[in-house]
Amino acid sequence: MMTFNSDMEFGIASGDGGISLASMGHSVVLEKYSMGVGDRFGRQARAQLRAVMQTAAGGAEVTPVWNKSNREHGIIGSRPQSVREAAERAVKELGWGKPWHADADHIRLETVDAYIESSDFFTVDVADSIGHPAREDMIQAFMGRHPELAGRREIPGIERPLEMSRAEVFGTAAKYLSAVQEAGRIYRHIERAKGPGRFITEISMDETDSAQTPPELLLILAGMAEEGIPLQTIAPKFTGRFNKGVDYVGDIEQFEREFADDLAVIAFAVMEYGLPKNLKLSVHSGSDKFSIYGPMRRGLAKFGAGLHLKTAGTTWLEELIGLAESGGDGLALVKQIYGEALEHRGQLCAPYATVTDIDPSKLPDRETVAGWSAEQFTAALRHDPACREFNPHLRQLLHVAFKIAAKQGERYTKMLAECEEAVSRNVTQNLYERHLKPLFLEERP
Ligand SMILES: [Zn+2]
Repeated sequence: MMTFNSDMEFGIASGDGGISLASMGHSVVLEKYSMGVGDRFGRQARAQLRAVMQTAAGGAEVTPVWNKSNREHGIIGSRPQSVREAAERAVKELGWGKPWHADADHIRLETVDAYIESSDFFTVDVADSIGHPAREDMIQAFMGRHPELAGRREIPGIERPLEMSRAEVFGTAAKYLSAVQEAGRIYRHIERAKGPGRFITEISMDETDSAQTPPELLLILAGMAEEGIPLQTIAPKFTGRFNKGVDYVGDIEQFEREFADDLAVIAFAVMEYGLPKNLKLSVHSGSDKFSIYGPMRRGLAKFGAGLHLKTAGTTWLEELIGLAESGGDGLALVKQIYGEALEHRGQLCAPYATVTDIDPSKLPDRETVAGWSAEQFTAALRHDPACREFNPHLRQLLHVAFKIAAKQGERYTKMLAECEEAVSRNVTQNLYERHLKPLFLEERP
């Protein structure tokens, strides 16, 4: 079995004073708590960083990671380099002296090359390889090397032992080994280009049909270790619906158990398979999963675990709220974007079919919205589940409608500049009040 030599040892185990090898120039090490903030149009890095700075002032260090997926770059027509440039400007202007990263989000072998220079964080997406059955001799060989995966396993922190029959191990290996090997190929490709230890590796499997159970996660991590991937975060798919821009839909108690079991499995796999000590879960939230922040916080406290939370699209919606709040031309532009989004709903939602649940009958028509005041528009869009006017269907549609704004080009970005005060205030407040504070600053239960 491949183990990570001491050169690649990661110093931060639980953020309690371990030596960061990053500071010695050896490795880029992801800090214990980090947040993936997306910025579709590259204009909100400062407002986002302000929220992180407020959190730091409140006593929690959360590293900002600017992420933008290859899909979003494609839809908007932006260059990967622009993410780093926008972040660099914000960091300089606000005098942020702590770590930050630029994440090439959801890249694959065909798409990674454009990100090599500008990213120090790579989210390697292997979802498409899940379910491509691995060769039987490979599965048998894997099982031969990992007899420990079959049978009952006592894992510290899990109430019921993990249990997989040999047939289940075979089935799980058949389902995931191709994805594990693909992750290895992509990792080594990046490593050849950037050099070992020069970047953070995340493996993402969230954009698939079925959730990964904790025993499946253990097998996947055993495979990743064999491939020699020093992964620092892993994004499994959890049970429940992670619809764009709106709250979690599912059994919250079940999520809490699954999340805690995943944390236990990760801690165990780090010891068992010699994975990087700072390996942690990455939750691709699709924005705003408020009702699972409490369960997540409890799990993190129980295991002393770190977390990477991606909540990217939420910022683009705050841009719209800021524009609407400003009234006049800002409000008119947002109404126009909504009208066009209605018209092109099918096309806009297609890439996000598994992460949107929009009831078309709940979408107000163009004429109705044309008559709305700024207050009516922001009340419908702002994610305040307690507000009676809040409309999750409208919010999901606008979440995936950034292409419409991108087509407006300068008209959109100029309007952002004109409404800068309202836009950046909403961006900062949203990230701080609704995300960073409840997750990282509120009293431990
Ligand atoms: Zn994702």
